[in-house]
Amino acid sequence: MSESKKMSLTVKVLVGMVLGIIVGLAINVLGLNASGSFINEYIVNGLFLVIGKMFVNALKMLVVPLVFFSLICGVCGIGNIKMLGRIGTKSFALYMLTTAIAIATAISIAAVMGIGKGMNLISDATFTGRDAPPLSQVIIDIIPKNPINSMANGDMLPIIFFSILVGISMLLVGRKAKSFIEGAEIANEIMMKMVNIVMAVAPYAVFALIAKAMSDLGMGLLASLAGYVMVLVGSLMFHLFVTMMIVLKIFSGLSPVKFIKKIRTAQVFAFSTASSNATIPVTLRTVTKRFGVNNSVASFTVPFGATINMDGTAIMQGVATVFIANVYGVDLGITGYLTVILMSVLASIGTAGVPGVGLIMLSMVFVQVGLPIEGIGLVLGVDRLMDMIRTAVNVSGDAVVSTVVAKSEGKLDVDVYNDPDAGMIDTDESIHIDETVEVEMAEIVEETKDRK
Ligand code: ASP
Repeated sequence: MSESKKMSLTVKVLVGMVLGIIVGLAINVLGLNASGSFINEYIVNGLFLVIGKMFVNALKMLVVPLVFFSLICGVCGIGNIKMLGRIGTKSFALYMLTTAIAIATAISIAAVMGIGKGMNLISDATFTGRDAPPLSQVIIDIIPKNPINSMANGDMLPIIFFSILVGISMLLVGRKAKSFIEGAEIANEIMMKMVNIVMAVAPYAVFALIAKAMSDLGMGLLASLAGYVMVLVGSLMFHLFVTMMIVLKIFSGLSPVKFIKKIRTAQVFAFSTASSNATIPVTLRTVTKRFGVNNSVASFTVPFGATINMDGTAIMQGVATVFIANVYGVDLGITGYLTVILMSVLASIGTAGVPGVGLIMLSMVFVQVGLPIEGIGLVLGVDRLMDMIRTAVNVSGDAVVSTVVAKSEGKLDVDVYNDPDAGMIDTDESIHIDETVEVEMAEIVEETKDRK
């Protein structure tokens, strides 16, 4: 297959994204999305909505079985409980550390810029905080009462716990579990093929998702909140391109440029779905096939990161806190800001990577430092767009930590990392079934029938 054909999926997804931005903004600016209009009813809230939601469903459909099987394979692949413990400890420490750095930087930048000072914003949007579970409950719930229930709800931490336990128990059973291990390996491979199939339709779906999101944007709000938006986006970019790349370089010695190039596809998925959880299949694929991280590390660090690591979200909380405190003329003082850092880091552990969860975390932070929760209404209007951007940062952080941990454990294939074409998806190949395979499969089915 020629190089240009191999490149096509990444390029197509990017084209889908750019076209989505252009078409969505055009619909918004030209006012074609007026309620009741044909474009609004049938295109934006018809075609785009349906295609986008179907695609997000397809991604979510993959998450639970993929995490389950890849983790079982991962644990059996390591075969060393001590190493497993080390991978867990290192990734947890790095996730928490980077989140704390993220929010501390964000607070500093926002405070220096003095955003929101002297502003007199009035918002019609009302925000009522929802309760997030207390940390003690989050810790208790790591152990599932009923693993099937956790799987049905997509609760990541108990699923991770159960899958690791299954893997460890398989190791304890030893040789007798051989066919089960082989079965899990095959199931994992099948799930990875499903990821390829879903990714093959991504260019169109990404277009639909982004066009819909952009056409719904409140342009007027963007302008009135320009200070907030600019400081937030600037802090997110600083964290992604400077802080995280320094972390990558210092802890692994690997090239940040290669990282930035290869993470693009996962970032576009995160951007268009605004969900780290729904992006797990793509992050896992990118980290293993494109970066060369062994599945034994990635199968744990990626779903774990999607749940507990939210650098971008923490940055939003830092900037929003400073902004709203300034608007309301509240001086939080150093203790107040330290509480914000601590609360944000803790809140990220217990909340899943799904759209809009950042605002719920923010309301927890506000309660703690005594800022008015209604203040969140001020930033509500631009939050969807900010959510898309911060989710891309969240997912990139998961990939950085996975790569660093894998490198430190000798579980990274540096040749794959350095090869620009490694793991590139070829759309034609990924959804092409070989004729000989079709015949072979039919024969296997016949043979199996005869055996009965
Ligand atoms: N949407 C984000 C994520 O999935 C969480 C948030 O900031 O709301 O990572």
